[in-house]
Amino acid sequence: MTTVLGAIADDFTGATDLAGLLARSGVRVSLRMGVPDGPPEDPAPFEVIALKIRTAQVDHAVAEARAALDWLQRAGAERFFWKYCSTFDSTPEGNIGPVAEALMHDSGADQTIYCPAFPENGRSIYMGNLFVGEQPLGESPMKDHPLTPMRDSNLMRLLAPQVTQAVGLANRLTVAGGVKTLTARLDALRAEGVAHVVVDAVANEDLHVIAEACRDMPLMTGGSAVAMPLPGLWQADGLLAQAGAPSRPQVGPGAVILSGSCSAMTNAQVAAYRETGAPAFRLDPQDLDERGVTPAIDWLSGLSAEAAPLIYATADPASVRATQESLGAARAGEIVEEALAACALAARDMGRRRFVIAGGESSGAVTQALGVSRLDIGREIAPGVPWCFAESGGDSIALTLKSGNFGAESFFTDALDMLDQ
Ligand code: ADP
Repeated sequence: MTTVLGAIADDFTGATDLAGLLARSGVRVSLRMGVPDGPPEDPAPFEVIALKIRTAQVDHAVAEARAALDWLQRAGAERFFWKYCSTFDSTPEGNIGPVAEALMHDSGADQTIYCPAFPENGRSIYMGNLFVGEQPLGESPMKDHPLTPMRDSNLMRLLAPQVTQAVGLANRLTVAGGVKTLTARLDALRAEGVAHVVVDAVANEDLHVIAEACRDMPLMTGGSAVAMPLPGLWQADGLLAQAGAPSRPQVGPGAVILSGSCSAMTNAQVAAYRETGAPAFRLDPQDLDERGVTPAIDWLSGLSAEAAPLIYATADPASVRATQESLGAARAGEIVEEALAACALAARDMGRRRFVIAGGESSGAVTQALGVSRLDIGREIAPGVPWCFAESGGDSIALTLKSGNFGAESFFTDALDMLDQ
C-alpha cells in the first residue's frame, strides 16, 4: 500500500483531530508521533505526522516539517496537507507561512491555499477575515492567548509578513460560484504570481467546493475540516480504493482511565464516572511529591481484572491554583504527568490493554511511557476523539487520547462501551 495523502500537523491534538476526520471515510489512517526514525514500513493510504512546532523557532519548525515531508515522500505520497489550528495560531514570524513555503518548494507546488475554516465549530472566513462564532478573530478570546495572541482577523495581513511570495484571496462569491469559478480564480492568481491564496468558507458546502477544486494541488494547507471531503473525492477519482469499516484489531481486555486534564468538561466526566461506582483513585500532586506514585500502583494491583478503574489528578480551578502556588505550576504539571505515565506502564504490565487518557499533555506523557510511536485510527467516540490502536511492549493496545474539552459527560463510559460492542 502506498500513501496517497501525507499530512503534517503542527501539534499533537491537531493531528488526532485531522486523523479522526480522515478516518470517518473508513480509509486506513496512521498517526505518527514525530518523524519516524526508520524508513516507511507498511505505510497507510493516509499518513499523519504529529509535530510540536506551533511556537517553535522558525528554523527548527521548518527543518522538522521538511524532514516529515521527506519521510512521507518516501512512503509514496505526492499530495500533502499542512495542518494548523482553525484560529490560525501563529506569531508574526511564523510558523504557518515559512513552513508552507518550505513544503511548497519540496513538493513542487507553485501555489497553495489557506483555509482554516471549520464551520461546524464556528470558524468561518469571509473576505479573508476569520471569525470565531460571531466575533472577528482579533476580538475573540484568542486575542489573549498566552503564546500566540491573535490581534488581527485578516488572514492576508497575518500571512503576508510570514512569507516571501505574494498573497491573494479567493472570496466567498468565487467559492459560491462553484468548482469551475474557483479554479479559474486560482489560475488567474497564479498567472499574476500569487503563490499564497486565502480561500473564504462559511459553510460545509464551501469546503466541498474548495476540496474538489484543490484536490490535485501538491500542497493544501488549513484546519482539519477542508481535508474532510478529500477521501470521498479521491475514491471517486479511483485514486483510493473504497474502504470498509475502520481499523479495529483485537485487543485484550482490562481497562484503565487516566485523567490529567483539569478542564471544565473533564471535571464533569470524572464526576460522572465516579457516580457509576467504579473504583477511583485521586492523585494529589502534593502527596505525589512527598510519597511518590507507589500508593496508586499498589491500589491498582489490588483490583480485579474486570474493574475499569479511574486514576485522576483532575481538580477544580481553585485547588489547581492552590497546588500551583505551593509547588509551582511547571513542577505540579510534571509530577502529575510522570505519575500518570508510571500508572499507565504499571497497568500495561499488569495485563490491562485499554487506555482512556484525558488531557493533551497527559496523553503525550502516557504515549511516550508506553513507547507508542504509531497509532492506527479507529472509530470516533466523540467528534475529534477516535479510538486508536498501537503496539506496546509487544502487545496490541487500544488508546483514546482526549483533549481537555472534548467529549460528552459520559465520555469514559462511552469509550469503554464502544470497544465492547
Ligand atoms: P488539557 O487537554 O485539558 O489542556 P493537559 O493534560 O494538556 O490537559 O494539561 C493539564 C496539565 O495540568 C498537565 O500538565 C497536568 O499534569 C496538570 N495537572 C493535572 N492535575 C493537576 C492538579 N491537580 N494540579 C496542578 N496541575 C495539574
